[in-house]
Amino acid sequence: MSLTDLTLLEAKQKLKSREVTSVELTKSCFDQIRKLDSQVKAFITLNEEAALQRAAEIDAAGAYDTPLAGIPIAAKDLICTKNLRTTAASKILENFVPTYNATVIERLNQAGAVLIGKTNLDEFAMGSSTENSAFFPTSNPWDLTRVPGGSSGGSAAAVAARMCFAALGTDTGGSIRQPASLCGVTGIKPSYGRVSRFGVMAMASSLDQVGVLARNPMDTALVMSVIAGHDPLDSTTLPAEVPTYHEEAQSDLSGMRIGVPKEYFEAGGMAPEDQQVIQTALETIKKLGGELIDISLPHTKYALPVYYLLMASEVSANLARYDGVRFGLSPSEDQIRQLDDIYLLSRSAGFGAEPKRRIMLGTFALSAGYQNKYYLQAQKVRTLIKRDFEQAYERVDAIVTPTSPTTAWEKGEKVNDPFKMYLSDIYTIPANLAGICGLVVPVGLSHSLPGGLQILGPQLGEQVVFNVGEAISREISFQEKPAILG
Ligand code: GLN
Repeated sequence: MSLTDLTLLEAKQKLKSREVTSVELTKSCFDQIRKLDSQVKAFITLNEEAALQRAAEIDAAGAYDTPLAGIPIAAKDLICTKNLRTTAASKILENFVPTYNATVIERLNQAGAVLIGKTNLDEFAMGSSTENSAFFPTSNPWDLTRVPGGSSGGSAAAVAARMCFAALGTDTGGSIRQPASLCGVTGIKPSYGRVSRFGVMAMASSLDQVGVLARNPMDTALVMSVIAGHDPLDSTTLPAEVPTYHEEAQSDLSGMRIGVPKEYFEAGGMAPEDQQVIQTALETIKKLGGELIDISLPHTKYALPVYYLLMASEVSANLARYDGVRFGLSPSEDQIRQLDDIYLLSRSAGFGAEPKRRIMLGTFALSAGYQNKYYLQAQKVRTLIKRDFEQAYERVDAIVTPTSPTTAWEKGEKVNDPFKMYLSDIYTIPANLAGICGLVVPVGLSHSLPGGLQILGPQLGEQVVFNVGEAISREISFQEKPAILG
């Protein structure tokens, strides 16, 4: 067995008992990357020298007591890393080297983690397949002709291909949960305000959250308890205490009320054979003593249009800062006659088609005369969507749904049809609009491709979704591996 087959908690145990060293774990990850990443292409930038040095320091000090001491971890490449290039998979930031760390990176460092590299994504996290990266698409380790999902597709593929023990991602409309489902790994989108976004490039600030992808719920929970919590540098973070989720987990479903929203299971949503995997997971919940309760979230049908109005509006504001003046791509001096030339030339050359599409859509939605018609209206409907969930959580402890209407699709299948691509996020977007948390756990294969169950919890209900996820995972015991792992 290769060291990379260990789960994060197993690796941690072996470090503590001195059966392995951090250098050995870190080297095993880079060996795996050398072996597979020319096919998977999960990483934009590797941090090999610094990672090995840090691992050696941890080994030399025997400092294995912190929560992630010596554990190799990757981060999505829109999370700022001091002295390590951070591109957002965009030409406009191709050579950007941050001078500071995001808070989540600082917290990983303090916990002893070893940062091995930066993973690929859809440009500025806009997309569902990682094909919108300005550099290269990432492949799904289960089938290299297929997409890994997105936008945190590099993180999901790296975890699935055992290139790291966990990875950070971000989720604005499903970008952690959907690739987790398509790559057969676990992923959490925390509640809005649970994790600091300081130093994380903003896509849509009322929706973005940083979260974790790992092999199973308890590995994910451990990393979550490290990165979560109030941050004085991000005023949107909540002061609520952070549980040590993996230690406090209770994997007993008996007496739990689990909501099954009819809108997520309606005909025409999922292919019947893919739905079978989810049905089996629902049966498992019942078998474990959970009570399945039919519920309705009636405003679900408005989630996609509401999201595309609000997200695009916020994108158009957030991406205004990439103007070619202080950092990132700038035109050469002989091209500049007046100030506007800098903006025009750097933004025209720097942004790809998808960010441009959304900047234009958002600028339109916010323009004079249209703001009340579109933006304000969308905000009102957002409140209704949020209320649907609040009412549901008066009756149930958690809600379960499919994560994605399909398993991983072929590369090229949707990339030229944005609307088709947008529809693939239909089950994940409502949680972002409502600010609630969601965990995805792999529950089976359909035609040899993985599918994940989405477990939605109330605001700050991370412990509940970890509990439910852990109970289901133990029972289902998803052990299948992508064929390329041999
Ligand atoms: N796929 C969705 C979009 O394209 C979600 C992206 C995300 O969560 N970052 O907007």
